[in-house]
Amino acid sequence: MNVLVTGAAGYIGSHAVQALLRGGHQVVTLDNLSRGHRATLPPKLPFVEMDVRDTSGVLEVLQRYRIDCVMHFAALAFVGESVEKPLIYYDNNTGGTLSLLSAISQSECRKFVFSSTCATYGEPTTMPIHEGVPQYPINPYGASKLFSERMIRELRTVLPGFAIALLRYFNVAGVASDGSLGEHHDPETHLIPVIMQAALGQREKVILFGDDYPTPDGTCVRDYVNVEDLVEAHVAVMQSLKPGDERIYNLGIGRGYSVKEIIDAARGVIDQPFTVEVGPRRQGDPPELYSNPAKVFNELGWQASRTDIAKTIEGAWRWFRDHPNRYSE
Ligand code: UDP
Repeated sequence: MNVLVTGAAGYIGSHAVQALLRGGHQVVTLDNLSRGHRATLPPKLPFVEMDVRDTSGVLEVLQRYRIDCVMHFAALAFVGESVEKPLIYYDNNTGGTLSLLSAISQSECRKFVFSSTCATYGEPTTMPIHEGVPQYPINPYGASKLFSERMIRELRTVLPGFAIALLRYFNVAGVASDGSLGEHHDPETHLIPVIMQAALGQREKVILFGDDYPTPDGTCVRDYVNVEDLVEAHVAVMQSLKPGDERIYNLGIGRGYSVKEIIDAARGVIDQPFTVEVGPRRQGDPPELYSNPAKVFNELGWQASRTDIAKTIEGAWRWFRDHPNRYSE
């Protein structure tokens, strides 16, 4: 298939490009490089430096490369930032998806795989979270993705043959197993990379955002899915899409780890000391989020295979240690 990957220079997008190439697909990469890193882009692939909000530009790309499927990763993805600057989240994420859908509807492309999030569920009362749990996001990031989901679903009902997959990720973690790709956000706010930076002496300490949550050890519980597992799921879902399909899947490992458990696992594999200090809660963080990933397993046979969090952290540590400047080298 000819696949356009938006956000191809970002964390998950860059790993997805590699999974698509391994699957034998032709890939066109697109990114506005506002947060992505040029160094992640395979030099032999076509790269379009463009914002997805450029509807006519994207339409031209879809036509020029005869794109069959768009995998849409381009988005802002920090919960905390979204609380502080909600409008840029609606503009980039919801507006970006609107623009992309508008371009797709004028093109021949009829498959769409969307990078969604468990943040669309908010603070569900049922745990683990299955796909039928009502979606009441509690932060603008989750809301911006939920609005995108709605537009995608509504377009499917009126665009003949349009097949869609909404993939709701839990916490994506880790690096490529061969060390070829890592993780680099600016600013860095995700727990595992923050731990790595503290262990490398690049930040003074890890602040643990709240230990008074109603969870077994008082810290937030999250479902950490390995990035390679996650992108393999994307390829499997894409390949299984039939005209007119609507597929909605949670992608996680089906169990949660608390922040303290992640820190303990990291202490076990990182050969450098690092300091952890308990701080106040971060706004917008639900106490507990973990998936029920049964649906994607029952329908497609996909399940996460890299579920040992210590191994995921160990791989990340090797990459961070070997690339202290990450993609800025
Ligand atoms: N967290 C933390 N300190 C940090 C970064 C994250 O205590 O410096 C906690 C955060 O409150 C959440 C969990 O780690 O409970 C995972 O956060 P992350 O930002 O990695 O992912 P998110 O859950 O926001 O997608």
